[in-house]
Formats: sequence, structure tokens, C-alpha cells
Amino acid sequence: SQAAFRTDLSSLLDQVGTGKESLSFMKRRMRRLAPQWGTAAQRLHAKLRQRWREQKKILVHVGFLTEESGDVFSPKVLKGGPLGEMVQWADILTALHVLGHNLKISMSVKELQGFLGVPPGRGSCPLTGPLPFDLIYTDYHGMQQMKQHMGLSLKRHKLVCHIRVIDTFGTEPAYNHEEYATLHGYRSNWGYWNLNTRQYMTMFPHTPDNSFMGFVSEELNDTEKRSIMLNKVNSMAVVYGKEASMWKQGKEGFLQTLHRYMEVHGTVYYETQRPPEVPAFVKNHGLLPQHELQTLLRRAKLFIGFGFPYEGPAPLEAIANGCIYLQPKFRPPHSSLNHEFFRGKPTSREVSSQHPYAEQYIGRPHVMTVDYNNSQEFDSAIREIMRTKVEPYLPYEYTCEGMLERVHAYIQHQDFCSPEAPFPPANSSTKTQWPSGPGPQFVLLPNSSALGWAPNASAPPSWPPLSSLRLLASQDGQSCVEACQRAHLVCEPALFRFVNNKEALRGLAVQCEVVEAEVNHVFPAFSVLRRECGLQKDPLLYSCAGLSPKYRRLCPCRDSRRGQVALCRDCL
Ligand code: UDP
Repeated sequence: SQAAFRTDLSSLLDQVGTGKESLSFMKRRMRRLAPQWGTAAQRLHAKLRQRWREQKKILVHVGFLTEESGDVFSPKVLKGGPLGEMVQWADILTALHVLGHNLKISMSVKELQGFLGVPPGRGSCPLTGPLPFDLIYTDYHGMQQMKQHMGLSLKRHKLVCHIRVIDTFGTEPAYNHEEYATLHGYRSNWGYWNLNTRQYMTMFPHTPDNSFMGFVSEELNDTEKRSIMLNKVNSMAVVYGKEASMWKQGKEGFLQTLHRYMEVHGTVYYETQRPPEVPAFVKNHGLLPQHELQTLLRRAKLFIGFGFPYEGPAPLEAIANGCIYLQPKFRPPHSSLNHEFFRGKPTSREVSSQHPYAEQYIGRPHVMTVDYNNSQEFDSAIREIMRTKVEPYLPYEYTCEGMLERVHAYIQHQDFCSPEAPFPPANSSTKTQWPSGPGPQFVLLPNSSALGWAPNASAPPSWPPLSSLRLLASQDGQSCVEACQRAHLVCEPALFRFVNNKEALRGLAVQCEVVEAEVNHVFPAFSVLRRECGLQKDPLLYSCAGLSPKYRRLCPCRDSRRGQVALCRDCL
């Protein structure tokens, strides 16, 4: 049946339940943001103009909040534990509810078994019979529980294609593929689930190999913006870091410098005494309820990060409330190779600052990324911030409407269960042909008829549509994430299958002495020097993130909507 937008959250609030601090935190957030979700629903409804939206049966199993995974977070909510996850789950639940889907929420293994129709207490009773849901949103903990308690063999089970894994930092194809990861040293602490990596959904658009789920932040109307700008205190700074441990190690110097110019505020959790890590000149408010933190940010001019935590929601909230976010540049970048925090995480991503999204997608004047070891640079950044006027700013993709639009598009179009139409089509009489270009560094625009693509093939059409594809060759040692970005495009893993062929190589005028198909996460790619070309043998390994100094990659890039990097222009 047709899904109808909901603007009333009361039934969702009832569903979430009570009794734990984590649940109260999420419900407070839902209530506080309810009006802005309501407005967003009306706007998206108007924008989609009666388009048919199928109502889906959706199970949300929040693995990290279950007793079985130790529920390490609930007790920490009051102490400044990772609230970012809680923020995101609250927003996911709200988005699914507002979009009008049929929602079930599980926060224990028992509930999970109940919803999936698995008899409880039977150990690893295998899941049989049809799945009563179209979609299951969970996390890595939830995956582990489904495997352990339901004997879900993730390699072959039909259920797997319905799962979406909420995964803050993302999982790249080389780490997700069990056999490949084991053979080639892409070890991770998170297991190898052999999913299509677009089934992992991240907090920020890290690598397009994953889907970008995101969360929302405060939205202000023009009156509010004006009043915030009038009431800004140019000499007021708030420090990013709600746990005392985040203030340790060499932060004194920066804080001293900062204090020379500004009044420094903190929201560091404490029990009875002031945490010794926090200098006496800092006005510490203790961990604040979210709405009080927003009030503090509305008055402050500067929100300052000291390098940890990485990539949380708080900087976006600060920028949305008219602060300038100042953060350290990481040189060399932090990654799983050189930093404890990322070690064992299933990604090779190089993190160039505390919050790369703020750095790359927002930038000046809202964000300043500087070398903190250069005291002159640090000093002049603070002085510049004090005299710069900025308006509150929130990227569209972090508004309620933006999140609803994106989640709507994923739900209606992403399909990891149906077999993909073969490409080039087996029965096509026309030979696939790319227009021949002037050389490998140029973008080519194929059209679907030249590709011999039969739009009326029985398999579902490609999403994003083939019309959004722009083929591009990367430089040696460059990933497709970067190559597409340089051309103001986005790598689109769903379109790899269209460029994984000899015709694409020919279209780029690549000279190949041999063309081999291999299981290698940098393929399709070619080496100019050795005149070698490689195609991808295992679709699970199509990777935007993959790179090798020996190869230039064939990259399927696409356009994107303004302020909504997850969606191409014709993707709605
Ligand atoms: N937060 C809060 N009170 C505070 C400090 C932070 O409610 O005193 C909230 C903040 O609004 C944000 C969330 O905690 O939405 C997560 O903050 P952070 O960016 O530090 O991310 P995390 O490290 O928890 O992922």
C-alpha cells in the first residue's frame, strides 16, 4: 500500500518505550525536533507531487542498546558517552516513522526473535520461512546477534539483502569481503559480512562505497538567525569535548592562548568535583541537556576542537547555531595505520582533520582548519574568528527535509535482492560502444543507446540511472573517490558494472596488451607503463576507495543534487 507522511510523533514515542536513560535521551530529542520534522514532511510531500511511495514493513533492531551486547551506553548517557549514536538512531527512527512506514522497534534479542518468528531460547535456531519484513536496520552488534541467535549464515541467506547496517565510520569493500580480506591482510575487528557495501550506512558521506544515512541538526528561521547574530558574544568560546579524557595531553597551551582572547566554556561531565584535566579558567557547565547546549552555542562565537572526538554531530550543531568551528589539521592524516582509534576499523580512509566533512563540505567562513603546532597560525585564526561575522548555516543534507528525501530515495530505489541485469545485455545485437575520447584523462559521456542498454529488460533498471554516469580515469595511485571529486562529481559504485568492460577501456583510448579479469579491489584499472588492463571478476569488490600506485582506475562518476551528495540529479 501507499505510505502516507506522518507529522504526529506520539505513536512513535510510545513505541520507543521507557526505563533507560538512552531511551529518554532519544525521546527528548524526538519531542524537541518534532515541529521541524513536521514542516519537512509537508515540504517533501509537496516536492514529490503524489509520487507513489510503497509502504514498507521495517524492523529496527538497535543492537548496541541491547542488554546482550552489554548495553554499555545507557549508563554512560548521563556521563557524556557517545551520544552521537543515540542522536543518529533517534533521527533514523523518526525519519522512517515520518515517511509513513510500518515500523517495529527491537532493543533486545528476545524482541528480535519474536519479530522474526524464531522460537526463543533455542540457541542458534536457524531462521527459516519468509521474512516478515522488507527491511531491517541494525548495527554491527545486531549483525552479531542475528548470527549467534538465529544461525543466520550471512554468506548465503536470502535475508541478508534486506539488512542495512548503521556503521558510523564506514566499511570498505576490501574489508567486507571475507575471503579477500583474509588473503590480502584487510583484517578488521568487525567481521566480514560479505554484504553489498552500500548496505552499510554511515554518519557522514565518508566513502560512496557506503550509503550516507546521516542525522539532522537544528534548523532556524530568518528571525531566529537574525536574533542569534545580534546576540553573539565575540569573545566567547565553547570547547568540543564532553569527557575529561578529551582534555588530556598538551591541550593546556592552546587553552592558555585561547584564554588570552576569549572566555572559555566547557560542557565536561563531572560527578562531584571539577575534572583536573579542565583548567580553572574554563567555565565548565557540566554535561548539558541538548537544548541547553544549543542555547550556549547560540551565544558563543567559537566552537573549538582539539582533535578528538572524530567526526561527531556537535560541530554541525555549532555551525547551525552561528558559531565558527576551529579545528586542527592532521598532517600526516590519521588512519588505521597510525592511530589507535582507527586501528582495526574496516576502512583505509585518511582523516585529514578532526572533522573532514566540516573541512571539505562546509569550509570557510564557518569552518577553519589550521595547524595547531604553528602558534602564529593558531593565534591569528582566533583573532580572525573574533572579527568575522557569520550566519548560522546547515547543509541541506542535514536538515529534516534533506534526510527524509535521502531515506525516501534509498527505501524506494535501493534493491540488493533482485539480480542485476547482465551488462552488456546478453541478447543485445548492438555492440556496446563508448564514444572514443581524446585520451584517458577526459570525462566521457556515454549515452545508453550507445551502450546497447535495453531499458525494457526484465531486471529492474539501474539506480542511480545510467544517464547520470560519467566515465573517468584516475591518476596513478588515485582512488575513484578522489578522481571523481576532483571533477566535481561523485564516485557511484552502483555504476561500476557498466564500466567494467573492454569497451570502456577502448572509450578512454587505453592501450592494453592484455586484459585480465581478476579478483582485485582496485580493478577495473590499467597500467599505462606495462600496457596492462584489469577488469573486476567479483562485483562485491567494486570499490570507490581502492587505490594502488601501480594503476590508474576506471571510475564511474555521477552528478549530485545541490546539498545532497547521496543523490544524483535524476535520482528522486
Ligand atoms: N551533547 C549534549 N550535551 C553536551 C555535549 C554534547 O547533549 O553537554 C550532545 C550534542 O548535542 C551532540 C551529541 O551530544 O548531538 C554528540 O556529541 P559529539 O559530537 O561529541 O559526538 P560523539 O562523540 O558523542 O559521537
